Amino acid sequence: MMNICVIGTGYVGLVVGACFADMGNEVRCVDVDADKIAKLRKGKIPIFEPELEDVVKRNVLEKRLTFTTDLASAVKKSLICFIAVGTPPGEDGSADLKHVLDAAKGIAAAMNDYKIIVNKSTVPVGTADKVRAAMRKVTTHPFDVVSNPEFLKEGAAVADFMRPSRIIIGTNSPKAEHALKELYSPFNRTGKPILVMSNASAEIAKYAANAMLATRISFMNEIANLAEAVGADIEEVRNALASDPRIGNKFLFAGVGYGGSCFPKDVKAIIHTAHQHHRPLLVMEAVQAANERQKKVLQEKMQTHFNHQLKGKRIAIWGLAFKPNTDDIREAPSLTLIEFLLRHHASVSVFDPAAMEETKKIFTNKLKYCKNSYEALAEADALVILTEWNEFRYPDFTKLSTLMRHPVIFDGRNIYSEEMLKGYRIDAYYSIERTTRL
Ligand code: NAD
Repeated sequence: MMNICVIGTGYVGLVVGACFADMGNEVRCVDVDADKIAKLRKGKIPIFEPELEDVVKRNVLEKRLTFTTDLASAVKKSLICFIAVGTPPGEDGSADLKHVLDAAKGIAAAMNDYKIIVNKSTVPVGTADKVRAAMRKVTTHPFDVVSNPEFLKEGAAVADFMRPSRIIIGTNSPKAEHALKELYSPFNRTGKPILVMSNASAEIAKYAANAMLATRISFMNEIANLAEAVGADIEEVRNALASDPRIGNKFLFAGVGYGGSCFPKDVKAIIHTAHQHHRPLLVMEAVQAANERQKKVLQEKMQTHFNHQLKGKRIAIWGLAFKPNTDDIREAPSLTLIEFLLRHHASVSVFDPAAMEETKKIFTNKLKYCKNSYEALAEADALVILTEWNEFRYPDFTKLSTLMRHPVIFDGRNIYSEEMLKGYRIDAYYSIERTTRL
């Protein structure tokens, strides 16, 4: 059993804290957001994440998991202090380290003994040195700074953290390495590697992983655009690519562009780091540009379909979260599309199984928020699919076509096909990139 604290109780920090507690450790989750901590203390989970509620409740009950805004007392009782605060993009695209450095200084000010500071936030190369320097100014106590990037995926965060594909420990301190290997040993029973490396390698490995995944998405989106132009079907092309073991079958789906709290900001940040070091990443710059263009593909299809007369049209949107099984809408393609529709004076009805509250915070009363997917279809001139939640995959198309004023579907996630829609009264079906008029 170890005493640890996790600073930042968001999508990453809460999962990390709850999962470490589940392995028998005593975990204190710290946040500056007093409302969030108050909610958690009352047993309310502030985010939607499968399995999380059970793990949190179980460990709160066993008194292994507690929540506090008191950083100093949490640090004093912990050997290992994780930093899992946000690293949003600054104006120039670089990762803003303000929260990380605030947390580091807070830890340093509270130190009473040797501590291991583990940076779990996604941070640019050189951050461990900056954390060390900031802490040195405040404390004379000994400490080590470890870079331990997190690879969990929202929507499957608990499962990913419990069964990681790899664990990266960036440190040159044998003491810190030993402690972290022990802490992580229960998560490593399946023999997946624990990779020990320098701080710098660990920091850049996280960005490189997200950059590679974003590249696959933009690559497939561009191939899809080409497929449409030459009369090929991107699903058939995808199957052909997926059967090559060198390529693999993951992350090959064309869509409305990548979003979320990680890919856009991490691509921006690695491009920024590369410029700072005079090694521009030309591929990543193209990946970013291709993604911006991709977000407009559905807009263009809608403009063409409605003959540039979106004013007064009612558009139903199914799916607001940037991907299924999360309520996270940060940089979601839905935001760009809704803004576009409102700019063109369309009225918008929306439904998402988890992200309604988050969306209300942004668009307030500008949208019609519906209780279920069918309510959103009432009198709609088109339905747009933006998140591939399972419950949207096999709707009652007869009901759908009856409820809508004009049964037209813009499928931003390619979850339907011409085959599936045959026999139903659907006026037009658009996808990425398999435009079909039925
Ligand atoms: P988040 O915004 O959900 O949570 C961050 C939390 O930190 C917030 O609750 C905020 O109030 C708190 N915070 C900010 N400053 C603080 C301080 N000084 N002391 C205490 N708490 C403070 O962010 P997130 O999605 O959990 O991401 C955290 C980090 O993990 C980011 O660097 C992100 O890139 C990285 N990451 C995220 C994911 C993901 O899927 N969300 C996956 C891997 C890595």
